Amino acid sequence: MPDSLVTVAYIAASALFILSLSGLSNQETARRGNLYGIIGMVLALVATAAGPAMGTSAASFGMLAGAVVPGALIGAVLASRVAMTSMPELVAVLHSFVGLAAVLVGFGSYMGPQTPGMSALELKIHEVEIFVGVFIGAITFTGSVVAFGKLRGSISGKPLMLPARHLLNLGMLGGCVVLGWQFMGAGHGATGGVPGGLTPLLIMTAVASVIGVHLVAAIGGADMPVVVSMLNSYSGWAASAAGFMLSNDLLIITGALVGSSGAILSYIMCRAMNRSFISVILGGFGTEGGSTSSAQKPQGEVKATSVDETVEALREAGSVVIIPGYGMAVAQAQHSLSEVIKILRSKGKNVRFAIHPVAGRLPGHMNVLLAEANVPYDIVLEMDEINADFPDTDFSWVIGANDIVNPSAQDDPASPIAGMPVLECWKAGRCVVMKRSMASGYAGVDNPLFYKPNTEMLFGDAKKVIDEILGKLRG
Ligand code: NDP
Repeated sequence: MPDSLVTVAYIAASALFILSLSGLSNQETARRGNLYGIIGMVLALVATAAGPAMGTSAASFGMLAGAVVPGALIGAVLASRVAMTSMPELVAVLHSFVGLAAVLVGFGSYMGPQTPGMSALELKIHEVEIFVGVFIGAITFTGSVVAFGKLRGSISGKPLMLPARHLLNLGMLGGCVVLGWQFMGAGHGATGGVPGGLTPLLIMTAVASVIGVHLVAAIGGADMPVVVSMLNSYSGWAASAAGFMLSNDLLIITGALVGSSGAILSYIMCRAMNRSFISVILGGFGTEGGSTSSAQKPQGEVKATSVDETVEALREAGSVVIIPGYGMAVAQAQHSLSEVIKILRSKGKNVRFAIHPVAGRLPGHMNVLLAEANVPYDIVLEMDEINADFPDTDFSWVIGANDIVNPSAQDDPASPIAGMPVLECWKAGRCVVMKRSMASGYAGVDNPLFYKPNTEMLFGDAKKVIDEILGKLRG
């Protein structure tokens, strides 16, 4: 394929990626957005494979197929097996691959033969690209691996609080700058053999890997949503850096799109959680994160309710607000819930959903599940749109949510989630919380909501209990 055709294909793919992002910003257009993304990626792959960079020899195509086909098969099998609740872990692993790829591309680019005809300035710029690309890639790689461990629960969600941790980060960053200086001074090793800058590059990779581990390890459980979106952004910049190293314009554009959209998402998530972007990135926001040691113990009595009583309350209520959380996703209760809602709405009740920005384990997690269960979009409202309506609501129904309805975020300054906006479901006439036990949520914080006078607990698996409610409402 001639160069000009590749350029046209790259421009078309870039436009499709932009259309894809804009489509994904809205539930109604999300499917179309996904389709644009898929078409753009197929176009990009075909243009790159058929472009001049690949050469025309059968061996190079064989090599490409040898990497792409098994990779695509393994990816398809693994992704199809992943439960919706494990999606954040999958995303974290995928980010780590992008980081690792940028590191490998950097080393490959440095150790491999130089492009002939490069001027001294171009060579220097290329070296900067390599150094910065490997640096971002290494941070993304190890940071994503730690995030994977935390999301999976194999690494503690508690923030790692090393003494003088900011100074430590600063020291390591300073060290990398010095190593960068040495790397640039060593030159590319044009005479063949091992390039002189390899040692500083290797040391910097090790230091950047430690920075990645430290940055993510220092972030507490409840702030993990920001980490996921932040690593998403880093992986974009790592891909963009790889694009510079490989002189691939489309990779630069795609990486920049992912990098900037991830940064915007991180900012939105921080605002939604009332966190400062910088303090989350630097780690250790809410130093007690994940422990309840200094937080107040909830006072009061826990009242348990039954399916019959809940059905009665639903029958009597004129307005119902449902707050779904991670437990609804685990139980896969959305389909039965959708049937319950149809019945309630057919009886003329005002039924709406209140969605917290960090409900579940992934941005937009609840919206995806409710859309999958055909819940109408117009009754699914964001926190800001519905929070003021709770005092006028007869019945608030919490389904497998915990941290996002924890009043201690407002009342207890010592709580690890202090300052995070929450859904004020306790202000409704009556509140029923559905979960299996009194266990805490992701942030590991006790929840005073369960002890409030107008709260009743309906214990059990969300799907099982909703099926029982559905049976009674139909009967
Ligand atoms: P939480 O993790 O706070 O609470 C979920 C509750 O669901 C648990 O307390 C659990 O209680 C209950 N549960 C679990 N399984 C079931 C089941 N089968 N049936 C019924 N209940 C069940 O979830 P929230 O959605 O309230 O809050 C999200 C949390 O996750 C926040 O802390 C957020 O910061 C964090 N997070 C969010 C991310 C995002 O992007 N959205 C990413 C990473 C973290 P029990 O065991 O008693 O049943």
